[in-house]
Amino acid sequence: MRYINEVDIKGKRVFIRVDFNVPLDEYGNITDDTRIRAHLPTINYALDEGAKVILASHMGRPKGVRVDKLSLRPVAKRLSRLLLKEVKFLDDCVGEEVEREISQMKEGDVILLENLRFHIGEEKNDRDFAQKLARLCDVYIDDAFAVAHRKAASNVGITEFVKVCAAGFLMRNEIEYFKKAMENPVRPLVAIIGGAKVSDKIGVLEKLVEKVDKLLIGGAMAFTFLKAMNYDVGNSLCEDHMIEVAKNIMAKAKERKIKLYLPVDVVVAERPSKDAEVKTCPVAEIPKGWMGLDIGPATTMLFSEALQNAKTIVWNGPMGVFELDPFSRGTFAMVMYVANSHALTIVGGGDTDVAIHKAGESHKISYISTGGGAFLELLEGKKLPAIEALEKCV
Ligand code: AMP
Repeated sequence: MRYINEVDIKGKRVFIRVDFNVPLDEYGNITDDTRIRAHLPTINYALDEGAKVILASHMGRPKGVRVDKLSLRPVAKRLSRLLLKEVKFLDDCVGEEVEREISQMKEGDVILLENLRFHIGEEKNDRDFAQKLARLCDVYIDDAFAVAHRKAASNVGITEFVKVCAAGFLMRNEIEYFKKAMENPVRPLVAIIGGAKVSDKIGVLEKLVEKVDKLLIGGAMAFTFLKAMNYDVGNSLCEDHMIEVAKNIMAKAKERKIKLYLPVDVVVAERPSKDAEVKTCPVAEIPKGWMGLDIGPATTMLFSEALQNAKTIVWNGPMGVFELDPFSRGTFAMVMYVANSHALTIVGGGDTDVAIHKAGESHKISYISTGGGAFLELLEGKKLPAIEALEKCV
């Protein structure tokens, strides 16, 4: 695959597919601009090289219709502030008017197009729509790792019609850090997996158990494993149909002689509510009718010990219902351990990075992936369609 610094972009119309799908509040204000900042190295490089920069992104799920609340207009304003230069916002992403505006661009100009998903052709990877996008540029750069696992016109279709295609620096970082962690890791390699469901992450668990030296399992998914070991998990979230899968993963860990850690104590309540009565108990003593909503203090201690000698740590998924204060301690304790570890630390998945940002520890993590689904698919060992499309273009 080629990268933006390996292609000639001076004076060219350069279409950069970014992920500006930022969270907005009810008044349309951007509440977190991390996703915009993540693309600044690529955008600034293109500007320094004298490109005419055309930025395109999706926002939310408008499903092919124009939804005012999902306009990218507020992003143009914020981006303009971050770049310290004018960012012209266009009301559409294809069509004559857009082509006319682009034809008037000078070197170093920046245009942000309207939400790609206002056109049904985007998510359908429609050839006509991809061709319309391709007409806007001489060079195509894909920097949107977060959607690289989805086939869309703006990240797969378009590569058939633009002669010069390459990846941006965010995409490069994502791929390189992933390789460092999973293809050529400095060992011991420890994976921490949490979150809601085993069924969402079977592929990931099955792959990890073959690669890692230690596997730490927290979050709701730990209860399926505990039940597979005949513990009574009360009303905890548990997927009975996944018990066999959990047993197979434990058997595989034994066979490979890797260490698999599960919670030994949990924070329980009768319901996941911030004013519910809360207790901590060993996993063998979860009261009838109560549910496990976080890992307990003995487990955080156990997990921190298990992380001690790690040289590479990969983490996806919270240890409990961290959105609610009484069940957030386990996740935040793990944030601290991971942040203060001397290992190469790579975190992926929407929820986990929210916890890290909230704790103010993001600067201590080696790499926080911008892609939830895409990161998980890489962990599963899948090929991402947008990356394959770029590889074909060389
Ligand atoms: P995921 O998207 O699979 O990473 O799951 C994240 C969600 O799992 C978060 O919203 C957490 O609130 C939830 N979660 C984590 N632990 C538990 C638990 N013990 N019981 C219920 N939900 C949980």
